[in-house]
Amino acid sequence: MQFEPVIGLEIHVEMLTSSKMFCSCAVVDLPSAEPNSAVCPICAGHPGTLPVPNIKAIEYGYKVAAALGCTLATTSVFSRKNYFYPDLPKGYQITQYDEPIASNGKITLYTSQGYRDIRIRRVHLEEDTGKLTHATSANETYSLVDLNRAGVPLLEIVTEPDFHSAEEVRVYAEYLRALVRYLGVNSGDLEKGVMRIEPNISVRPVGQEELGTKVEIKNLNSFRILERGVDFEIKRHIALIESGGKVKQETVGWDEAKQETYSQRSKEDAHDYRYFPEPDIPPITVDREWLNGLYSSLPETPWEKAKRFVEQYQLQQQEAWQLAGDIDTCTFFEAVVKENPAVSIRTVFSWVTGELMALLSSRNASILNSPITAKGLADLLGTILDGTINHQTAKTLLVDMFDSGKTAKDIILAKNLGQVSDSTLINDLIATVLQENEPEVQSYQDGKVTVINFLFGQVMKKAQGKANPLVVRTELERQLNHGK
Ligand code: ADP
Ligand code: ZN
Ligand code: MG
Repeated sequence: MQFEPVIGLEIHVEMLTSSKMFCSCAVVDLPSAEPNSAVCPICAGHPGTLPVPNIKAIEYGYKVAAALGCTLATTSVFSRKNYFYPDLPKGYQITQYDEPIASNGKITLYTSQGYRDIRIRRVHLEEDTGKLTHATSANETYSLVDLNRAGVPLLEIVTEPDFHSAEEVRVYAEYLRALVRYLGVNSGDLEKGVMRIEPNISVRPVGQEELGTKVEIKNLNSFRILERGVDFEIKRHIALIESGGKVKQETVGWDEAKQETYSQRSKEDAHDYRYFPEPDIPPITVDREWLNGLYSSLPETPWEKAKRFVEQYQLQQQEAWQLAGDIDTCTFFEAVVKENPAVSIRTVFSWVTGELMALLSSRNASILNSPITAKGLADLLGTILDGTINHQTAKTLLVDMFDSGKTAKDIILAKNLGQVSDSTLINDLIATVLQENEPEVQSYQDGKVTVINFLFGQVMKKAQGKANPLVVRTELERQLNHGK
C-alpha cells in the first residue's frame, strides 16, 4: 500500500517589541539577560493586576498576517487558556481563541517538486510563558524558573494540513523566518528560541479522503531538526501501520542524541483548557482603514523578491532564494547591482554569495557590520571589468579591503597591483618564456596543443600574476602560431 504524509504546522513567533504583551517590562535577550531581571507583578501573575495590551505587538501581528494574505478581522478577543505549569504563574495564558486577529491566508512555496499552495488557517496573538531549565546537582534534580520570557508577545500561525513532505514543511518555515525578519518583527535567531515550530504529522493510504491520526512534535527550533523529525515520524507511522499496528494520537519531543522522537503525553491526558473571554481586556477593535493601510505599506515579501530575481536577473530559483531568504543579503546584492550596472549579474551574484559570504563567515562578521560596502564591492568588481586587476588579485584585495577598510583603488595604487595589459611588455615576457622552453614549443608545433597551458602558466608566473590573462593568451597563441 502507498501512503501519503499529511502535515499541518503551528509556529510561534516572538514579536520584537520593546515591551511585553500586557505590561511595560522590557523584552530582553533571553540567553544573555540576568534571569528574572525583567519581571513585574503583571507578568509574574500576581492577583489583582491589570493587563494592558501592547498596540505595537498587535500591529506587528496584523502585518505578518497581511503578508500571509489573510483576512484581517477588525475585532479580536483575548481569552484565558487555563492550565497549571510552573512556567505559568497566573495559572492561565492570555491568548486568542475563537476570534483571532486574522484567518484564511495563503502562501505559495517553491520546492524541488514545484509550486505548492499552503492555506493559513489562523493567526492569533498571545503571551509567551516563562522558561524552565532542568538541572541536576548532587544527585538531586530541580528546575529553575526564569520569568523574563513570561508575557513576551507571541504570534501563533496555524496552517491547514496542506503539507505532504518534510521538505515542504522546511521550506515553509524558512519562508516564514525570512518574512518576520523582512518585517522587522523578529530577529530570526532560531537557536535563541524566538521562533518555535510544531509540526502535526499523519499518514493515510493514497486516495483516502479522511485524515490519519496525528502526532505533534513540540517546540522545534532548527530547520534541520524539523526536517528530520517530520521524516522520522512519517517513516514510523508507515512502518507501524504496515506491521498491523495503529498510530496513537500523542505529543512527542525530539531526542537529538538518539535522532528520534519520544512520547511526551498521549491524548488521554490532554488538557481541557476551559477557555473563556479575558474579563480584564475588552475586545480589541481597529479601523478597517488602518488595516487597509497595513496592506498597502507592506514591503515586497521574500517570495515576491525571489520571483522578481528570477524574472529580472535570470537567476535560478535556488539562487534567487539564496538572496531573497535574507533581507540583508538581497539589499546588499541589489545595491551592488545599482552601483555598477556594467558588472554582470552573474559576477555580482557569485561575489556576494561566494567570496564575500565566505570572507564574512571566516571573520565572524555579518553583511551589516562588514567594512565592505556595496559601493566598495561594486568598485572592486569594476576594476576587474576594466582590466586593472584580474580575478585572483581581486580576491586577495577583498580581504585587504575588509582588514584595512580602504577602497580597492587605494590599495591597487599603494601596492602597485595594477595588471599589465600593455602588449609590448607582455610580448617581451612571452618571447622570453618561449626561448626558455624550446622543447615545449616544439611539441606544441608538433600538434600537442595542450602544452599551451603550461606556457601560459610560465608567462603568468613571470608577470607575478599581474598580467591580463586574456591579453597573454591571445598574444601567446599568436606568437606560437606565427613561429610555425
Ligand atoms: P489541536 O487541537 O490538536 O491543536 P488542530 O485541529 O487545532 O489540533 O490542528 C492543529 C494543527 O494540526 C493544524 O496545523 C492542522 O492543520 C494540523 N492537523 C490537524 N489534524 C491533522 C491530521 N490528521 N494530520 C496532520 N495535521 C493535522
Ligand atoms: Zn511585567
Ligand atoms: Mg496543537
